[in-house]
This record gives sequence, structure tokens and C-alpha cells, in this order.
Amino acid sequence: MTNVLIVGAGPTGLTTALELTRQGIVPDIVDAKESPSWKSRAVAILPRSIEILNRTGVGDHLIREGVRITRAHIRRGKRSLLDIDLSKLLDKEEQVIALAQNRTEILMSKQLESMGVSVRYDTKVTSVATSETSATVTFADGTTKTYDWVVGADGVFSTVRDSVHISYNGYELDEEWSIADVEVAEEQHHGTINAWLLEGEHKTRDALVMIPIERNRIRLISSTSDSLAALPLTLDVQDIRRTGTFKISVRQAEQYIKGRVILAGDAAHTHSPVGGRGMNLGIEDGQAIADALVHNTVHTYEGKRKPKATRVMRGTEKARKLITSNNLGIVFGIYVVTWCIQHSYFLQKKFAKNLAKL
Ligand SMILES: Cc1cc2nc3c(=O)[nH]c(=O)nc-3n(C[C@H](O)[C@H](O)[C@H](O)COP(=O)(O)OP(=O)(O)OC[C@H]3O[C@@H](n4cnc5c(N)ncnc54)[C@H](O)[C@@H]3O)c2cc1C
Repeated sequence: MTNVLIVGAGPTGLTTALELTRQGIVPDIVDAKESPSWKSRAVAILPRSIEILNRTGVGDHLIREGVRITRAHIRRGKRSLLDIDLSKLLDKEEQVIALAQNRTEILMSKQLESMGVSVRYDTKVTSVATSETSATVTFADGTTKTYDWVVGADGVFSTVRDSVHISYNGYELDEEWSIADVEVAEEQHHGTINAWLLEGEHKTRDALVMIPIERNRIRLISSTSDSLAALPLTLDVQDIRRTGTFKISVRQAEQYIKGRVILAGDAAHTHSPVGGRGMNLGIEDGQAIADALVHNTVHTYEGKRKPKATRVMRGTEKARKLITSNNLGIVFGIYVVTWCIQHSYFLQKKFAKNLAKL
């Protein structure tokens, strides 16, 4: 049987492992961290990801535990620009679910365990050397093992990618963005994505998004350095679970395959969290790799996945620039477009479908 190592048990690596196992190839999967993460980055799970993860029964768990997004409300300051009822615009199978990434990962790894495969935590890969027929991996304890294929799902700072000298071209933005996860006193804005276009800290405008991720827990993410301070409404905050800042990189691996190494997820591409696409793209990569390995069509993987990532990266960058632009023409354009969407059922439906589509 083909022997495969998956490096990284984030959403990408776990999807690859679930899909391979389901189709009869039992992989090794390792992660450098000691246990599943308690920190969450991604929150939005798109219908396509749920469809993929439902092949192994995880999708239903995500729907049960997550918050179904039923409404989207965009404002500029106090003025409402767009307020739409997604529950009426999207079919049941098109729903977007919000759930903290760490919970998503736990549900995925539990399902993997029930299928007989456990993630080996505290197992760091320090290098990979590849030929045309195999790849040899060195672990932090000095041991080595040779595999038919190694999947680098080890994130933005991928050791696998660097070991085989694949360049990760792109750029990093100057400004700092921030996130905050807060517990609120009672269920507030349940099921609603609230977004604000704000007057900027810099020469640009800023954007802030508030998403419910549990009954009494809310995620704030913004292009300001302090999401909680920038929030233009008062929340009855009971506990601040997490705050942090981050910088946005927009990068893509020059090659997705080299010898017997395949890259996927953030190891292959990274971009801004606007639109909540990154994790979903990685989940789709994971499914594509598993199918390619099972059907012996690995040579088609890069041709299918790289253009898709390029398209998503362009789209998210365009959206990021639009919502943070200070250009009066663009601001006026946003008013006009949101007014048109608000007043047309057809455009509302189109907007909702784009929101839910990868
Ligand atoms: C603030 C923020 C908000 C976001 N929101 C969204 C969202 O709403 N929706 C969305 O789709 N995306 C979102 N994203 C993007 C999303 O989080 C990532 O795209 C996603 O986590 C990528 O998954 P991955 O499995 O490829 O990589 P990761 O999640 O980074 O997982 C990589 C794993 O590899 C392990 N690893 C690393 N190096 C080694 C090594 N040498 N040996 C062994 N293991 C190793 C790490 O410990 C880690 O567990 C957001 C990102 C940020 C920063």
C-alpha cells in the first residue's frame, strides 16, 4: 500500500487524513504542537467544506455544534448599508456555519481517531529530502523514515516547503490587524455577521467584522490594532478569551509538487482573512490530494489547485482593498452597490450565494 506522511494536523492535514483513510490509504499524521490548539483563527465554514467533511461524517457534527449564519448586516458608522436575511436567500445545504477553528479541528481529529488513525502530537519534522520515487523525513528526535509521498500541510512557515527549496512568493502588508474572542452576557446578534466600515486609524478606512461563534461567544476581527476598542457598539462583555494582532501576508508557493512532496493549505498559499476563505481552501486541497493519491493522478493536482488559489487570493485582495479604501469614488460606489443589492431580491440572492461560495 502507498505509504503517506501528512505533516501538520490543522484543517488541511486532518482533511487529507480523513479522506485518505476513508478511501483505504491509512496515513501517518504528525504535528509539532503538544496537543490540539486552544487558539482559533478561522471561524467561517463554507458549504463546500461541509460537503467534503460530510463524507466522513464530520460535517453534521460541525452543523450541530456551530452557529448557523442567517443574516448579514453591513453599516458605515451608524448608517445601515445592507441588511439581508440569508436564511431566506440560501437553501439549507448552502448554509455557512461559524465555529472556532480549534473546535473544528477537535471534531475532525476525533472522527479520524474513530476511523483508527491518531495524530502523533509533539512530533516535529525538521527536514525532508525528496527523490523522484520517495521522500525521507527527519524528525526532531533525530529518527528518519522514508515515505512514498509526504504532504506538507504545515502552515505558512512550512518546514517541508523550505526543505525542498520551493519559494513562497508574495508580500506582507504593513498594517496590523487584530482579533478578539469575547464572552458576552447573553446571546447577542445570534446568527448575524455584523460588519462596519469605519473611519480609519491610518490614511485608509478601516473595517470590522463581528461573528457569533458560540451561543455567548463572539469573534471580532478588524483592520485596526484593537478590535474591541474599535467596535462601534456596546457589548456586555463577561470575559475576554483572547486578543491578538497579526499581519497579513499574500503569498503562494511557486510549485505545489516537487519529487514526492506535495504542498497544501497555508503551506501552499496565504492571504487576508477577508471573506473567510483560507481554511476552506485548505480543506478543498486536502480532499483533492487524497483523491489524487487514491486514483494515481497526483500530476493533475497542481494544475487544478494552483489556479483556484490564485483566483481566491485575487478576490480576497480586491475585497480587502475595497473595504479599506479612502478613495471617495470607491466609497460612493460601495453606497450605490449596497443600495442596489438591498433593493433587489435578485442581487441579494447573488450576493448571498457569493458569500457562501468558495
Ligand atoms: C485571524 C485569522 C482569521 C482567519 N479567519 C478565517 C476564516 O474565518 N475562514 C477561513 O477559511 N480561514 C480563515 N483564516 C485562515 C485559516 O486560519 C488558515 O488558512 C488555516 O488555518 C490553514 O490551515 P492549515 O491546516 O493549512 O494550516 P495551519 O492551521 O497553520 O496548521 C498547520 C499545522 O502544522 C503544524 N506544523 C507546523 N510546522 C510543523 C513541523 N515542522 N512539523 C510538524 N508539524 C508542524 C502546526 O503545529 C499546525 O498545527 C484566518 C486566519 C487568521 C490569521
